[in-house]
Parts: sequence; structure tokens; C-alpha cells
Amino acid sequence: RKLGVALVGLGSYSKNQLAPALQQTKNCRLAGIVTGTPSKAEEWMKKYDIPKANVYDYKNFEQIADNKDIDVIYVVLPNSMHEEFVVRAAQAGKHVICEKPMAITPKACQNMIDACKKAGKQLAIGYRLHYEPFTQEVMRLGQQKVFGPIKFMESSDGFRIGDPTQWRMKKSMAGGGPLMDVGIYAIQGARYVTGEEPLSVTAQFSPKTEPQKFKDVEETLFWQFQFPSGAVCNSSTSYTAGVERLYASCQDGWFELSPAFGYGPLKGRTSKGPIEKPIVNHQASHMDGVCKDLLDGKQLPAHITGEEGIRDVRLLQAIYRAAETGRKIDLKA
Ligand code: NAD
Repeated sequence: RKLGVALVGLGSYSKNQLAPALQQTKNCRLAGIVTGTPSKAEEWMKKYDIPKANVYDYKNFEQIADNKDIDVIYVVLPNSMHEEFVVRAAQAGKHVICEKPMAITPKACQNMIDACKKAGKQLAIGYRLHYEPFTQEVMRLGQQKVFGPIKFMESSDGFRIGDPTQWRMKKSMAGGGPLMDVGIYAIQGARYVTGEEPLSVTAQFSPKTEPQKFKDVEETLFWQFQFPSGAVCNSSTSYTAGVERLYASCQDGWFELSPAFGYGPLKGRTSKGPIEKPIVNHQASHMDGVCKDLLDGKQLPAHITGEEGIRDVRLLQAIYRAAETGRKIDLKA
């Protein structure tokens, strides 16, 4: 049996990545849509053969509770809207997948976790890379200390953003700038390669080179994590220029992915030669992995659930606090 997935929010990620991936998945299928735009509903119904009974808008969304075709609701809305729709999805009695960042505050994340727990439903975050073979290999190399202990790392993700009027440039909707959007991948990279939680963070905003464009959010941000093993990680994120690299320098060698966080193919090498792994569709692997566990009645692995999501959101906030105060923030407290 394939689980039925309903996508909430038919923007770029749903349209260009998730819906095409759901044509390749083995454990789930695109069964429904939730959209505020009637013309999109028409287009999607035709393109993906979705019956009218499985199409909802933001107001009648609750009625999805009675729809047996829908097992999983996937929230793909702007960051500030994740909380409301995850809570409503859980209250409708469905499992939930929510895009990253989980929400814009830890309190919102906690409400989402609580709502899913109360409903007896599982909550996964859109951490697609945890199901991606090159990423799984650098997790192994780092966590099993294949090249000895990690001494220092670089984990950075940024790109040059287009349309300055989009929600990603509004603090109220995005929670911040590039840190919330792609810097979270750099945080994840540092955490999954070391397999550790950072002890402290320092951070610095770059001066703005386009102050008009970046009125509301940061343009470029740098931060440094210290880990219990002694490893340190230097990171950058930006909306003004591109960077995409995950590099670990170890006692007896090094390894890296570059590109490390995009939709792929990712590319990796070590001090001993290239990393060779199969190239997969990230979104299909992620949704199939999550839905396999749901079909088998298993608990989702902790590193892709709401518990992981809230950890990252706390770190996002700590990084902003460090940059704003210029102080080293203790993360143990
Ligand atoms: P988008 O702007 O392309 O789409 C957003 C959707 O939300 C649109 O359909 C829009 O109509 C709808 N929407 C409803 N209310 C809105 C409002 N008040 N303002 C703006 N839009 C509104 O965004 P996207 O790139 O699809 O991102 C959606 C989510 O997916 C974000 O949380 C983002 O971080 C995440 N995302 C994740 C990945 C990944 O690789 N995991 C990639 C891209 C985006």
C-alpha cells in the first residue's frame, strides 16, 4: 500500500521538487492538495489526476480529517505559517511532514510537537539529506572517526537571492534571512558530521553591501561552533553570493562535499580519493523513508523529527543572539 500525501502550499518547492518526486516514490503518492489559489487547484487536478474531493483550501482544510485517501499532510508554506498548519493537520488526525526550518521560534516548534503527540501522530521535518547517500557517507566518516578525530570544519551554504519582495526577505514570515533558509543546512552539516551538539557559538554579521535590498534581514552571516570533542566549525551563510561546502579536516586526513546541500547530484572526495555513491532523488528518498516507517508502524528516527527541528531552531536563535551581542553564547545552559 502507498500512503496518500497531501501537499499544503503549491509554491516552488511543491511544484518543482515534491510533486515530481511523488511520481517516483514507492511508499507514497500524491493524493491531495491544499491551496489558496483556485487556478492552481485546476492545474494540479488535471496534471496529477487528483479528484476534486481531495482538493482543499486553507479554510475548509479541517474536512481533510474525514478523507481516507490522505494519510500524511506535508506543510510547504512560508516558515511563519508552519506552526498553524502543522497543528491543524495533527488535529485532523494525520501524520505530518513539515518543511525546514520547522518554525521561527522554539515555542512554535514545541506547540507543533505537543499537538502531534496529543493526536498520536508522527511529525517529520523536511531533512531530505538524511536519506541521501553522499551525506550518509560523510556522517559515517565523521561520526566513526575514519580519518581520526575532527580538528576543524567548514560548513557553509548561501546563494544570491532574486526577487527582493518575496517572503524570504521579510523577517515576520521567514524569521530572518539566509540563516533561517539555508544556514540551517550548515548547522545540520556540522552536527551530523561530528555527531555532537555544539557547546558554544560566536557569530558576526557582515556589513551590508546592498542595504536597500537587505532592510529587514541579514545579508551575510558568519558563525563558529565549538564541540565537546574539541572540534570547531566555521560557517557562513549569505543571500548575496554563493557558497556550498562541507569540509572536515581530521588528524589523519580530510573529507568534503561540495556541492553539499542542494538538490544534487552532490559531489564528495577525501584525502584518499573520490567518494562514489549512487545518485538519488532527494525528495523521493526522504518521503519514501518517512512513509516506510509510518507503514511499518515504527517510530521515525529522532534525527528527522520535531525534536531535531526544535534543536536547530534554538541554534538559529542562539546564532542571531551571538551576532547581535558580539558575545560568545553558552549552549549548554
Ligand atoms: P514559495 O514562495 O515558492 O511558495 C510558498 C507557497 O505558500 C506559495 O504557494 C504561496 O501561495 C503560499 N502562501 C500562502 N500564504 C502565503 C503568504 N501569506 N505569503 C506568501 N506565500 C504564501 O516557497 P517555497 O520555496 O516553496 O518554500 C516553502 C517552504 O519550503 C519553506 O519553509 C522553505 O524553507 C521550504 N523549502 C525547503 C526546501 C528543501 O530543500 N527542503 C527547498 C525549498 C523550500
